[in-house]
Amino acid sequence: MLQYDVIIVGAGPAGAIASKTCAEKGLSTLLLEKAVIPRFKLCGGGVSTSALSHLGFGIEKELVERECYGVRVHFKDRQIELKKSSRLAILVSRDNFDSYIVSKAVDAGVVLQEGEKATSIKPEPSKVVVETTKGKYNAKVVIGADGVNSIVSKHVRDSYKPNELGLCIAADIPATNEEVDEYIENAVDIHYGLTKSGYGWVFPKAKHFSVGVAGNLPSMKSPRKIFTHFLETLGFRTDVATHAHLIPYGGYEREVCSDRLILVGDAAGFVDPFYGEGIKYAFISAKLAAERVVESYENDNYTKSALDTYKRSCYNSFGKDLEYSLRLTRLMNKYPDIFFRLLSSNKSVLDEWLEIVAGRMEYKAYIRWLVPRVPYFMLKALVASK
Ligand SMILES: Cc1cc2nc3c(=O)[nH]c(=O)nc-3n(C[C@H](O)[C@H](O)[C@H](O)COP(=O)(O)OP(=O)(O)OC[C@H]3O[C@@H](n4cnc5c(N)ncnc54)[C@H](O)[C@@H]3O)c2cc1C
Repeated sequence: MLQYDVIIVGAGPAGAIASKTCAEKGLSTLLLEKAVIPRFKLCGGGVSTSALSHLGFGIEKELVERECYGVRVHFKDRQIELKKSSRLAILVSRDNFDSYIVSKAVDAGVVLQEGEKATSIKPEPSKVVVETTKGKYNAKVVIGADGVNSIVSKHVRDSYKPNELGLCIAADIPATNEEVDEYIENAVDIHYGLTKSGYGWVFPKAKHFSVGVAGNLPSMKSPRKIFTHFLETLGFRTDVATHAHLIPYGGYEREVCSDRLILVGDAAGFVDPFYGEGIKYAFISAKLAAERVVESYENDNYTKSALDTYKRSCYNSFGKDLEYSLRLTRLMNKYPDIFFRLLSSNKSVLDEWLEIVAGRMEYKAYIRWLVPRVPYFMLKALVASK
């Protein structure tokens, strides 16, 4: 049976960065991926400038399908558009983007086994045994980077409850470059009010639009109907292949470690519940987990109590932000009319919020900025609607 210092299950952004970091520190590292790379991943493909700053290396120009400088927000009959002078995000196709990051991990010395699914994880006192569709491996520690339906997480915490999940339904709508330019060019379209929670999006890409609707799982009663109606309203064709995928919603206080196991990215539940950004937290948590694993390797201590410093590092790095994002999301879901009217009627409400996307403002500071201004903004919105 082949033995490694560390096995990472899942070669998305989290697994690629976790494995790369471990290999760079000299650990023998196996990266297991059930799909063949490049693999399809349902995603809007928005990678924020803030997320890129955590990547640790530059990316090839060809991967950037569009650049995003702003947002156009719709709510009922209202529409507001705002552009920033600095780039907020790049728009990519996840198959190519993720494949590029994995290639960086392989360059760093990671052994990649693709088309090989982990089917069982058995933590034992002195090792973890990982069984796959093709074989059996041992490792001192396993990093679960296997996404929202993680099998590694089953040994760490309870499954997500329905209200801890979002449901996304999306499709790529083919379009020419000119059509994309004419529709939105270098901004993204966000539509509120389609569902009780969440939003619809239109993201411009090189030869298509990524169009989707996302909402908290219990509130997404007839997702396909909502999505088709959304496409029709926008004037897009509806005879396209649609895909649905779950997304973790608001995780900052779940268990993320047990003896010899550690979770990162979606497997750990690290996604911003307000607007669904997950790639940034996949990068950050992957690095923190790998650093923790390297420390455990040096001390030969992989107990939960040793690994638990990772949970604290995550909270200190971004957990507070996810916590306040969840508060804002709950407020928005409770008072959607007030919230969206505020957002779609006052440029500064949106302008300040984009500072979060840019990584220049935290949610807590945003809420502190917003709350005392609500009466004035509401008054302004009421006057504007007359
Ligand atoms: C519709 C949609 C739109 C989104 N849009 C955005 C966006 O625009 N910007 C953004 O930042 N985030 C977005 N997200 C969130 C983002 O996609 C995730 O947060 C991100 O992909 C998490 O990365 P990850 O590496 O943790 O997991 P994943 O990217 O899901 O990767 C997990 C990998 O593990 C593999 N795997 C799973 N099980 C096994 C197994 N048993 N054995 C081996 N391999 C396994 C999978 O094949 C996969 O490659 C979106 C999500 C959805 C669903």
